[in-house]
Amino acid sequence: MSLHLFDTATRELRELVPLRDGEVGLYVCGATVQGSPHIGHLRTDVAFDVLVRWLRRSGLRVALVRNVTDIDDKILARAKEAGVPWWAWALRHEREFTAAREALGVLPADYEPRATGHVTEMVDLMRTLVDAGHAYTTGDGDVWFDVRSWPDYGSLTHQRLDDLTPSEDEASPGKRDPRDFALWKSVKPGEPPTAAWPTPFGAGRPGWHLECSAMAQRYLGTEFDLHGGGIDLRFPHHENEQAQSRAAGYGFARMWLHTAWVSQAGEKMSKSLGNTAGVAALLGQTSAPVLRYALASVHYRSVVEWGPETVAEAEATWNRLSGFVHRACELVDPGDPQAAPLPAEFAAAMDDDLNVSAALAVVHDHVHRGNTALADGDLADAADEVAAVRAMLDVLGLDPLAWQTTGDGRTEQALDALVRAELETRAAARAARDWATADAVRDKLAAAGIVVEDSPTGARWAVKEQS
Ligand SMILES: [Zn+2]
Repeated sequence: MSLHLFDTATRELRELVPLRDGEVGLYVCGATVQGSPHIGHLRTDVAFDVLVRWLRRSGLRVALVRNVTDIDDKILARAKEAGVPWWAWALRHEREFTAAREALGVLPADYEPRATGHVTEMVDLMRTLVDAGHAYTTGDGDVWFDVRSWPDYGSLTHQRLDDLTPSEDEASPGKRDPRDFALWKSVKPGEPPTAAWPTPFGAGRPGWHLECSAMAQRYLGTEFDLHGGGIDLRFPHHENEQAQSRAAGYGFARMWLHTAWVSQAGEKMSKSLGNTAGVAALLGQTSAPVLRYALASVHYRSVVEWGPETVAEAEATWNRLSGFVHRACELVDPGDPQAAPLPAEFAAAMDDDLNVSAALAVVHDHVHRGNTALADGDLADAADEVAAVRAMLDVLGLDPLAWQTTGDGRTEQALDALVRAELETRAAARAARDWATADAVRDKLAAAGIVVEDSPTGARWAVKEQS
C-alpha cells in the first residue's frame, strides 16, 4: 500500500503521487506572530511533523516551507498596546514559536519565509492579477481580488459565491463586491511608516492571503504536492490563496490537508476565548515528550480534548513506553531506530491517512511482547522488540532515547560512560561487601547531581530534577 491522505478539497482519501519523482513539496501556513504559542498552534505543528517524518521514512525527500506572518493588523494593534515597535513584537513571538516547536521535538522547516521579505513577489503576483482582470485598484493604495471574475471561487470549500457573506476586510468605497478580499492594504492614518512598502499601486502592506501564494510559488514552484494548515484556515484564507494563485495561472496545491483544533471543556481553544494553554506554562507542569505524546497520539483530523486528564493519561502511557525502552536498552544494543525495520502493520496504519491510533496499537503490542521477553530473560527477542518499538516511535517523534539527549548527544554519551564507570566501581565494592567504598561512590555521584536507582537489572542513573 502507498500513502493515502484525506484531501479536504475533494473530500476523499487520495493516494499521494508526488509531482516530481521521490520529492514532496509541502507548504504549511505558519503562525501570525502576534502572541505566544498555545497548545492549539503546536497541535498543527506536531501533526505535520509526523507527516514529514513518515514521508522521509518512506524514502521521499521533503521540502517543508512554513511561513511566518510577521506583519498584520493584529500585530500592529498588539504592539501599539504594548508600546513596542511592531517588528520587535513580531520577532519576539516568532522566537517563542521556534522555541516551543524545538521543545516538542518538531523538526525544523526547510525554510521559514517571512511576509515582510517577499513584497517583490507579492507585487509581481498583483500585477499579473490586475493585468488578467482578476484584481483591481481603488486609487488609494488598496488592491482587491475580484471574486466575480473567477468562476471557480468557493470551489475549495464547496461554497457558492451567492451564499458567501462579505469579506472580513473593512469596507471601502471602491470595492466592487462586498465579498472581494484585500490583496494589498493601503497605509491608514496613524500607522507607523515602517509598516508600509512602496508599490506601483501605492504604499501599504500585504493582505494576509497574498503572502502565502507568493511565497509558496517562490520556493515550491507554481504547482506543488501538499498544502496544509489548521482547519480554521480553510475559509477564507485557503480559498483565497487558491483563487488568486489559479487566477494567476498557477496549478498551486494538488492536495489540501487540514488539522482539527484543540478544545478545552468542549470549546475550541483560541486567544479570543481566553481558555488558552500556553506552551511555556505547560512545559513547566509536565515534560515535553508527554505533551508531544498527548498531541501526536490523536488523529490529525480529530479534535484533541485538552484537560488535566489528557496530560495524566499521556504521562502514564509515555512512562510505560519509555520505561520498556530504557529497561531493554540497558541489556541489549540500542542500535539505530532509523535503520531498524518497521512492522508491516505499523506502516499500513501510517499509510492509511496517518492512522496513529492503529499505529500506536502496534507499538503497544510490541512493548507487551518485549516486556514478556525481558521477564523470560530472552534477550534476543527483547532486542528485536525494542528495535521495532524505537523504529515506530521515531516516526512519531517519540523515541525515548532521542529525548534523553540534546544537541548531538556527545556530551550525554561522555557523561554516561563516566557515570557507568563509577557504578561499576560501586557494584564491585558491594560484591566485596566493602560498604564504605560503595557509599562513597554513591555520595560522590549525588554531590554531582546524579541520582542512582537500583533495579533487578542493575543500577540506573539520572540527573536529579530541579526542585
Ligand atoms: Zn497561508
